[in-house]
Amino acid sequence: MHVLVIEDEERLAQNLAKAITKNAGFAVDITLNGEDGLHLATSGVFDAIILDLMLPIIPGQEVLARLRKTGDKTPVLILTAKEDKASVIALLDSGADDYLAKPFDLGELLARLKALIRRGKGQASPQLVVGDLVLDFNTRSAARGGYRVEMSPMEYRTLEYLMMRQGSVVSKEELLEHLYDYNWEKFSNVIEVYISTLRRKIDSGNAERLIHTLRGRGYVLRKGEPQ
Ligand code: CA
Repeated sequence: MHVLVIEDEERLAQNLAKAITKNAGFAVDITLNGEDGLHLATSGVFDAIILDLMLPIIPGQEVLARLRKTGDKTPVLILTAKEDKASVIALLDSGADDYLAKPFDLGELLARLKALIRRGKGQASPQLVVGDLVLDFNTRSAARGGYRVEMSPMEYRTLEYLMMRQGSVVSKEELLEHLYDYNWEKFSNVIEVYISTLRRKIDSGNAERLIHTLRGRGYVLRKGEPQ
C-alpha cells in the first residue's frame, strides 16, 4: 500500500510516515504544501491520503474539493485542529472519508487508516481470504491451509496488495506504484522475483494454484484459473 501525507508541520509529517511504515508496512510519501499535495494526490498511485487542513498555497479543504472534482475516489483522512463540529460536517459532506482532531493518538490514526484502505478496496473484513489462503491485514501475517507463510517485508507487501485486489488483473507497473515510495529506484524485474518467491511459498505443493500470470498483462490472485 502507498500513502500520501500532506502536512506542513515537517516533523509531524516525518514521524507519521515513519510510524506508518514501521507499524503497517506501507510506503509513504510526504508533501508540505497543498499545491504539491494536490498534484501528487491526482496521480492515482495512492491507496489513501492523510490531509491536514491548514496548509500553505492551497488549503486542505480546497485540495479535497478539487481532488473529488476530478472524480478521484482515493480515501482521505483529514487532520483537523478545529473542534468545530460544523466544519467537520462540511468536510465529510465534501468527500472526506474520516477525520481526526489534533493532537491525535497514533494507534487510532493507524487503525482508521487501515480501515479506510480496506474499505476503499471493497474489503469488509481485515481477514482477506482466497481459497484456503488467509491474510490478516492487522497482524500482517498469512497462512495457507492453516500453515503460516513466512515472508520478507516486501514479499508481504506484494501479497497484501494482490489480496486486496483479488480477482483483478494487477500489472507490474501498478505493483511498483503501490509498493514503493517515490524515492525508490524501481525496476520491474524485482516484481518478478517477489512473485516467483511467493508462488514457491504459497502455491508449490498445492493442487490448486492461486497466483496466476497473464502474459503481457500482469498477475491475478484467485481461486480457479483466470479467463
Ligand atoms: Ca498545518
